Amino acid sequence: MTVARILAAKGGDVVTIQPHRTIAEVSRVLADRGIGAVVVAGADGEPVGIISERDIVRAVARHGAGALNEAVTRYMTSKVVTTTVYATVRDVMEQMTEGRFRHVPVVENGRLAGVVSIGDVVKSHIEEIETEHRALREYIATA
Ligand code: AMP
Repeated sequence: MTVARILAAKGGDVVTIQPHRTIAEVSRVLADRGIGAVVVAGADGEPVGIISERDIVRAVARHGAGALNEAVTRYMTSKVVTTTVYATVRDVMEQMTEGRFRHVPVVENGRLAGVVSIGDVVKSHIEEIETEHRALREYIATA
């Protein structure tokens, strides 16, 4: 299963936020959209970072409620690990396991083409296992 196939099913929407926005603003975006991370995008739409609910919890735990008025750039991760539409679900799983994160933006021709979350990876993995089981059961039944 490829990243392209996951995006074909879920769409290529990428929720982004500008670097000067605050932690309070990004929290509202995460809550309103029901997602766990947003890509921080520069003036040309290029990814300059990623900020997830975990960064926000860490910011408030370490710096108190005042962190809510600070810019996302202070708490985001600047070195974003991305993938391509040609990668397999296994590749993305490895990136998530090694990097200990649950969101991987997809970049195609220098443009954001989607985001794969750990939920998408688990869903696709379960579907693959179910397809394999069905094929095996059919094979046994007809053998
Ligand atoms: P998450 O598990 O996605 O909530 O993220 C856990 C930590 O990894 C946070 O500090 C995020 O900023 C960071 N992070 C999330 N996704 C990525 C990514 N694709 N590349 C680099 N860091 C990431």
